[in-house]
Amino acid sequence: MNDASLKALREALAHSPDNAPLWRHHSETQLAMGRFDEAEREIRVALAKWPEDLELKLGLCSSFYRQGKNAEALVIAEALAKSGVPRALIMHARLLLRAGNAELAARQYRRALDDDPKLADDDLSERLGVRLDAAEDEDAEIVDGRVRAQGGETKSGAAMEIERPSVGFADVGGMENVKEEIRLKIIYPLTHPEVYKAYGKQAGGGILMYGPPGCGKTHLARATAGEVKAGFIAVGISDVLDMWIGQSERNLHEIFEQARASKPCVLFFDEVDALGASRTDMRQSAGRQLINQFLSELDGVQYSNEGVLILAATNAPWHLDSAFRRPGRFDRIIFVPPPDDVARAEILRLHTRGKPLADPDFEHAGKKLDGFSGADLKAVVDVAIEEKLREAMKTGKPAPLTTKDLLNAAKKQKPSTKEWFATAKNYALYSNQGGLYDDVLRHLKLK
Ligand code: ATP
Repeated sequence: MNDASLKALREALAHSPDNAPLWRHHSETQLAMGRFDEAEREIRVALAKWPEDLELKLGLCSSFYRQGKNAEALVIAEALAKSGVPRALIMHARLLLRAGNAELAARQYRRALDDDPKLADDDLSERLGVRLDAAEDEDAEIVDGRVRAQGGETKSGAAMEIERPSVGFADVGGMENVKEEIRLKIIYPLTHPEVYKAYGKQAGGGILMYGPPGCGKTHLARATAGEVKAGFIAVGISDVLDMWIGQSERNLHEIFEQARASKPCVLFFDEVDALGASRTDMRQSAGRQLINQFLSELDGVQYSNEGVLILAATNAPWHLDSAFRRPGRFDRIIFVPPPDDVARAEILRLHTRGKPLADPDFEHAGKKLDGFSGADLKAVVDVAIEEKLREAMKTGKPAPLTTKDLLNAAKKQKPSTKEWFATAKNYALYSNQGGLYDDVLRHLKLK
């Protein structure tokens, strides 16, 4: 390859700008010549014409990879790897290795070689410790006739604690859209079943909330239970996973059964992506069975979910199995943004309730604390109170909390939502499945 061949290709493209194979060849040549930023620019132009072209997407991913734009490359590789195309799996493995996730990298690499052994790469095999003659399954072990899957711990039974929350929507600052959605989709069908029946609307399905950490997803789920005086079961992935194949599914079933037996009950799955993730730490096939179990419990065909309100949350919706999003399952997927000025003022007010106050200007403080999550704001209040206590111990007099105290405390607390948006932006731009992340783009003013 040399400049002359690139020039010739360019001329050919000028004559036939709609020739997809020519574009692919052109970008391959650019990549082979190490012109990565140029390749990136031009592949984007080609992708605008053929957004689903696998070769072009792989080319874009490779140009990112070679320029060290790892986050962008990873998003594309992850999406392509879902299709199981061996070259995409190899790319994914390289990026995972670069990100320090050697275990998953090795798994993706093995999957690629199972399909196309010609893609074996000595360097990658060595770094991942994958023996080329042993691509068979090494993850499962048979003990006492039961198959043990890698990862996960043993547990016996899954009896969950049922809370009776005393908080309601009034204790949750902002989040008006999400509250409204929860009212319509799950509270009213419970409190006004006849109206819903009259309109032929069936209750069922759940709401999935996603967004940066600490912005009130768990808090709102708990408040939903408080709002309708229902029980509340918070399920984390460690409550479900078990190292014995089949036991995780049974755990999940027992948890649903417990909710059904205690209706009305809000069943809340935190980090639900971990349950259905293509990146779960379990063997691929074991993971699939758990997802299927979860979906059949959600569908409520075999057992009725009447009176069971299902909410779930994730900070990483991009790792969620797409089957979760079908109608009747999590057909409402809601972006929970960080609180805006007004909500921040409200959250500060909520968390200082009952404390000695010197009439702090919450609106002013709220405006100043852009990017702070609800959890960050709670931490600001905690720090400010501690500081006041320290002073009171010295002076012997308790002094009330001022605006300045809050702003000073905020200096010690970094807003935590920015990092999440840096990742989410990449998914929203490069892997926006059917507009799933349009709300994120709108929030970032990119749409
Ligand atoms: P993660 O994704 O990390 O699980 P999350 O979105 O579920 O986070 P929560 O655990 O609900 O966030 O929030 C942490 C704490 O921050 C809550 O217990 C609550 O005290 C406070 N908080 C967050 N958002 C709000 C809010 N809108 N109103 C009042 N308090 C809030």
